Amino acid sequence: MCSRFLRHFRSPGPARVLRTNEDGAPRSNLTVTSGETATVEKVLAAVRVAPSTTEIREFPMPDIPEDSALLKMEVAGICGTDVRLYKQPPSSAPVIMGHENIGYIDKAGREFTKRKGFKEGDLVFLEHYVSCGTCEWCHLGQYRHCENTDWRYNPNAIRYGYTASDVAPHLWGGFAQYVYLPWNAVLHRVPKGVTPELAGLATPMSNGIEWSLFDGGVGYDSTVLIQGPGQQGLSQTVVCKQAGASLIIVTGTSRDGARMEVAKALGADHVIDVEKEDPLARIKAITGGKGVDVVLDCTAGAGTLPILLGVEALKRRGGTMVVQGEMAEFPNFPIGRITAKAITIKSARGHSFKACELALQQLASKRFPLEKVTTHTFGLNEVDLAIRSVGGQGVPDVIHASLMPWE
Ligand SMILES: [Zn+2]
Ligand SMILES: [Zn+2]
Repeated sequence: MCSRFLRHFRSPGPARVLRTNEDGAPRSNLTVTSGETATVEKVLAAVRVAPSTTEIREFPMPDIPEDSALLKMEVAGICGTDVRLYKQPPSSAPVIMGHENIGYIDKAGREFTKRKGFKEGDLVFLEHYVSCGTCEWCHLGQYRHCENTDWRYNPNAIRYGYTASDVAPHLWGGFAQYVYLPWNAVLHRVPKGVTPELAGLATPMSNGIEWSLFDGGVGYDSTVLIQGPGQQGLSQTVVCKQAGASLIIVTGTSRDGARMEVAKALGADHVIDVEKEDPLARIKAITGGKGVDVVLDCTAGAGTLPILLGVEALKRRGGTMVVQGEMAEFPNFPIGRITAKAITIKSARGHSFKACELALQQLASKRFPLEKVTTHTFGLNEVDLAIRSVGGQGVPDVIHASLMPWE
């Protein structure tokens, strides 16, 4: 599936561009030939230039100041957010996508190593949040809430996979050979024995810890409904199992057959195909009419239905529901049912520093067969195909896709 091309190439000429898109323009056999030898090293990146359209572009190798570093990319994970932002970009600016990034520190300034403790050769997981380093949230390790990285409200926010590639030094996304690391990049050491591809699960796994443990309060003897068996729902399954949940129910649709099998292998007690069975009746039957303690919404593009099901599937009083809330509107929101059942709703919004550290430890434990989740790899010139495949419209049965920029 992957084609190889030169690791470094030198060209003094104008930027070369190779376009791939949904209509099947070339997406394999990308060849980049060297021009005459020049002194400037170039970095190849896949750039989203319009909705559902990617171009391979060259960028100059950035200068690395003493307080900064350069990450040589190994794996960029692709998730449901990429599927959504690829189809409907939040702005028309060109963006190197890729926000779940694993790589080796290739160059590190002296100050960078002194302040942050990372040196050349270290394998790291890079959070996509770029902190301000001074606010209350940053001091709490909650970089996700820092204004410096909040692209929704701050036009100058820096966030990997979101910031436009015309902002110098351009390398703000993981679908590229290299990524720039300023002093305020947030890094985690990948534990020994964890391969870059396995470490590519750090983001869904840290979301799993944040949403189910920290937000949902899942623990010993909890009963949990996880809606959606994608990489996110499967990661929640692992985390809930590890935390001691006594009942894990995972729902999906008829096209999720393979994912449901993986859910069972990772610890789900029951799986429900919501297109074949009445999920609420089944959940009531499984729980003896009681309902569950916690509902985790890990669906993508399913509209309001998972929330409505979650409200009814929760126990009579005091359940918790963690929701993503990606829908623009929610007509007839069941506020009366929510208050009558004393339901707590929490927002699924990324992960904290602590959740990332726990996620990496979970990956290092090798306690769960996570190789069943890391199903596919794609090369840099296959970004379009890779994103479509994660969205269910390309290569079949993709659960987690690893974009490997050197292949
Ligand atoms: Zn993601
Ligand atoms: Zn901050």
